[in-house]
Amino acid sequence: MHGLMQHRELLISSIIEHAARHHPAGEIISRRDDGSLARTDYRSIEQRARKLAGSLAGLGVRPGDRVGTLAMNSDRHVELYYAISGMGAVCTTINPRLAVADIGYIADHAQVQVIFADPSFLPIIDDIAPALAGTLRHVIVMGETAEIGAHHLPGSVSVHAYEALMDTARPIAAWPVFDERTASALCYTSGTTGRPKGVLYSHRSTVLFAMMMNNADVIALRATDRVMPGVPMFHVNAWGFPFAAPLAGAALLMPGRHLDPASVLDLLNRESASVAAGVPTIWLGLHNHLRDGGGELTSLQRILSGGAAFPRALMAEYQARGIAVCHAWGMTESSPVATYYAPKPASLALDAAPKLDQAAKQGRVVFGVDVRAALDDDAEAPWDGATQGNLMFRGHWVASAYYRMPDSDVGDEGWFPTGDVGVIDPDGYVMLTDRTKDLIKSGGEWISSIAIENIAIGHPDVLEAAAIAVPDAKWGERPLLIAVLRAGSALAADDLRAFYRDKVPSWSVPDRVVIADSLPHGATGKILKTELRRIYASDT
Ligand code: AMP
Repeated sequence: MHGLMQHRELLISSIIEHAARHHPAGEIISRRDDGSLARTDYRSIEQRARKLAGSLAGLGVRPGDRVGTLAMNSDRHVELYYAISGMGAVCTTINPRLAVADIGYIADHAQVQVIFADPSFLPIIDDIAPALAGTLRHVIVMGETAEIGAHHLPGSVSVHAYEALMDTARPIAAWPVFDERTASALCYTSGTTGRPKGVLYSHRSTVLFAMMMNNADVIALRATDRVMPGVPMFHVNAWGFPFAAPLAGAALLMPGRHLDPASVLDLLNRESASVAAGVPTIWLGLHNHLRDGGGELTSLQRILSGGAAFPRALMAEYQARGIAVCHAWGMTESSPVATYYAPKPASLALDAAPKLDQAAKQGRVVFGVDVRAALDDDAEAPWDGATQGNLMFRGHWVASAYYRMPDSDVGDEGWFPTGDVGVIDPDGYVMLTDRTKDLIKSGGEWISSIAIENIAIGHPDVLEAAAIAVPDAKWGERPLLIAVLRAGSALAADDLRAFYRDKVPSWSVPDRVVIADSLPHGATGKILKTELRRIYASDT
């Protein structure tokens, strides 16, 4: 209709353009591998992203192509986020902590022709490159030319130094304009059946998500904030901080590989961080470090925690230090924030203890997403804070299907099953109570219980095995394996643990193996993990 509001495509490039024009001096500070801090600003990031977009075109990357990254949080990784998506290609972040077979699977499934990798991840590239000989053409090592030296990969794969590429790059004159429903990023999450599954974000979903994050009842970044995303950029786009921070003009403090408590404390204090985000394991480690005389937090005001439940007692410890812990829930499939804790008017009248109980729940839904707890017949569970249901969500930044998995399609209006079980209280606060997906989450990383079980079953003496998550003070959850042995076998629990060596990354090996006489089975013959959790979960 004539005279209607302007229609502008919601493009990720508009975020960095805005930051470069209105917050040109907004800082990005990155901890390099050697521990030094590199400083840059949004003006420079935008200029370099345009150069990189020019280089990508020179390397043969076309709109729609997937470009891989195998990197920690840094200014260069931020440049890549904007360069790749800004030119219309798809930034495919690959988790370097996965098993090499899964990394290779992702690179192949996404058909990446170009991978950008931190120098320290080059050995991973060496391992996966031979199998990718048909598709992989360029590897760009994210560092100075001198830092990299000569590195050779098999066949037709050429190796470049990031800064050398930057030196010779011709910047694109302006960011192209295209449909906001274009794919911008691809992130793989651990699959219950073993293989990682891809979640494909769009420009529209990403921009709306970043705007939502800065709402007053969410993390609400301001130009004066200084934010440390302690969540890696290969995990759900570092929960959107590389977009929400420049959108507001807030500074980004990037820890790189240095996520140990002393380094985190140093970065937070040295750079006057006001906001930080990460999984509870990071905040528990930092708390223990402070308690053991490691120092004080001098500027931090708010922590966004998600990925696993935040212990109530730890929340109280941070509160006593004057730091608010904001609890959020979501998953890779929801970009990730679906619920976030913020008080409602009724919360204000609560005493300290029930207020803390409420804050320790997973929060209430943010505008743009809706959530429901479904009963077995799919009816919605009442919001009584007691009736458990399978949590499902839908919204502007919720996946409609996994990438190249048509069977998983729920459509634009459908409810996406989260695999989490929870209750919703009369005020709309969600509390997670269990998980239906067979996954164990340790320090923010997923361990597939099925993968753990398959290895055990591969042992000639094992008849049947089940892996479950048991609560762990440091890591949130750790795998426990319960195995039934063939008659007459004298296999010891420790021998079975040793059998995992070199088959999975060391952090996926079960901490404890229990040899049992039998496993509980349900009517359809399936192992009853709920029953196993009941028996073993607190028995550590
Ligand atoms: P990811 O896709 O790796 O981000 O993992 C998402 C999953 O982590 C969710 O489906 C939950 O099982 C778990 N999770 C995320 N946030 C929380 C939270 N605040 N409390 C408990 N579990 C959580």
